[in-house]
Amino acid sequence: MQETAQQQQPTEVEQARFVWAACLDLIKEAVNTQSYKTWFEPIHPLGLSGRKLTLQVPSQFFYDWLEEHYEGVLQSTVSRVLGRESSLEYSIKTEEPELEFDYRAMAADPPRAEISYPSQPRSFRGPDPPSGSQKEVVRVETFLNQRYTFENFIKGESNQLARAAASAVSNNPGGTSFNPLVIYGGTGLGKTHLIQAIGNSALATKKAKRVIYVSSEKFTIEFVDAIQSDRINDFSSFYRSMDILIVDDIQFFSGKEKTQDNFFHTFNELHQIGKQIVLSSDRPPKELKGLDDRLLSRFQWGLTADIQPPDLETRIAILRLKSEEDGIDIPQDVIECIAVNVTSNIRELEGCLISLLAKASLEGRQITVDLAREVVRTVVGEIRSPITIEEIQRVVCEYFSLPEDLIRAKTRKQEVVTARQIAMYLSKELTNSSLKTIGLHFGGRDHSTVIHAYQSVEDQMKIDQKFNANVQQVRRKLDLLGRI
Ligand code: ADP
Ligand code: MG
Repeated sequence: MQETAQQQQPTEVEQARFVWAACLDLIKEAVNTQSYKTWFEPIHPLGLSGRKLTLQVPSQFFYDWLEEHYEGVLQSTVSRVLGRESSLEYSIKTEEPELEFDYRAMAADPPRAEISYPSQPRSFRGPDPPSGSQKEVVRVETFLNQRYTFENFIKGESNQLARAAASAVSNNPGGTSFNPLVIYGGTGLGKTHLIQAIGNSALATKKAKRVIYVSSEKFTIEFVDAIQSDRINDFSSFYRSMDILIVDDIQFFSGKEKTQDNFFHTFNELHQIGKQIVLSSDRPPKELKGLDDRLLSRFQWGLTADIQPPDLETRIAILRLKSEEDGIDIPQDVIECIAVNVTSNIRELEGCLISLLAKASLEGRQITVDLAREVVRTVVGEIRSPITIEEIQRVVCEYFSLPEDLIRAKTRKQEVVTARQIAMYLSKELTNSSLKTIGLHFGGRDHSTVIHAYQSVEDQMKIDQKFNANVQQVRRKLDLLGRI
C-alpha cells in the first residue's frame, strides 16, 4: 500500500532533484565552468518541503565556502525557480558512528571553555542538586574532535608502529602492554589526530565510557586554577575517574613541578586500576628537559612510538583523501606537484590544498600544475626542481674558485681536471642524464671519459678524507639549490 502511494506522487527527493536541475541550468550561466564543477556539481538535492529546498554539501569547508562566495547566486537562483518565498537549507554530509547516548549529547554541544569536576558519587547521587547544575552533573565533555578517526588517518611507513599501537590500545584500553602509549614526533605530523582517534574509536565501539582529551598546557592551567579556588580534590578525582586519559604535548610539563607531581599521582592511580593513558610529545621523552625522572621512568612501563615525516607515497595518499573529503576531483599531476614539494609537515600539505582550491575558485582558474606551483611557492617559498648539469658545473666552479668555462675547455691543469671530474661524478649521481649527455656538456667528451672520472672520484673519496669532505660539501650546496 505504502509503495503504491509513493509511486503516485513524486517524492520529496524527486521534486528536489527536479528543482535543483532547473537551478543548475541557471547557475551554469552565472558562474565560470571551473567554479561550477568545483562548487555546484558536488551538491546533492535532498528534499523539497513546501518551498524549502534542502541541499547536501560534502563538507563543512565546502559549506563555508559556498556561503561566503555563492550565497547570492544560490538564493537568487532558487527564488527564480521556486518564487520569492523560497528558502534554502543545507545538510553537511557526515558519516556518524554509532555512539553512546551521553557521548552523542556531549558531541552535540560545542565544547565548553571550562570543565566542571563532578566528583562522581556525590554528583550522581546527591539529593536535589541546586537548579542549573543538572547539566554539569550528567555530562562530561570529552574535548575530542570527531574529525580525527583511524579511518581518515593514512597509514604509511612513517607512522606504522604508532598507528598499530594506537589501534590496539583503542580496542583494548588499559588491557595491552602499551600503557602508557607515548607518541612523539615533529609538528604537524599527526600526533593529535592519532591520539584523538584512540578516544573516538574506543567511545564508538563502547570499549570505554569516560574519555578525556586535554593538552598539558590546559591541564596545568586547570591545576593552578583548582589550587587557587580550593577545588584540588575535585580536579584530581575528575581526572582519576577516566577510562582513557589523553594528554597532548607533554613537553609543556617541563619545569612545572607541582603540576607534574599531581599528574604523576593521577598517572599511578589510573595505571594501577588498569585504565589507559595516552600521551604525545614533540620529542622523545628522554629528551624532555625538566621532566621528573619518576615520570620518565613510568613512561618505560609502556610503549613509546614515533611518527616520522611522511614519504612521497603517503603524502600523495593524504592529499587524495583530503580532496575526496572536500568532494573535489584534483588531477594526479597537481597532487604530485604538491606532494613532491611540501615534504615535512602534513598541516602544510593540507594548507596547500585549501589555498589551491581557494585560488582556483576566486580567480576562476582551472586546477592545473601551473596553479599548484604558484600556491606551493607561497606556502613553502620555493619549488623543488630537478638539478641540471649546468647548475652542477656552476656550483663546482664556484666552490673551487674557477672560471666556469674552464670546466668545459681542453685544459689539463690538475685543479681543473679535479673539479671537472667531481662535476661529472655529481652529474651522474644527481641527474638522470646518460653518460653520453654528460660528456657532451663537458666540451664534447665521450662516455668513457665520464666513466673514468666517476671511478676515480669514487676511489679518491675512499682514501682521501679531505677530498671526500669537499665532494660532500658541494653536494650539500646542490641539495639546497634543488629548491629554486
Ligand atoms: P601534530 O599534533 O603532530 O602537530 P596533527 O595531528 O594536528 O599534528 O596533524 C596535522 C594535520 O594533518 C591534521 O589536520 C591531521 O588530520 C592531518 N594528518 C596528519 N597525519 C595524517 C595522516 N596520516 N592521514 C591523514 N591526515 C593526517
Ligand atoms: Mg598536536
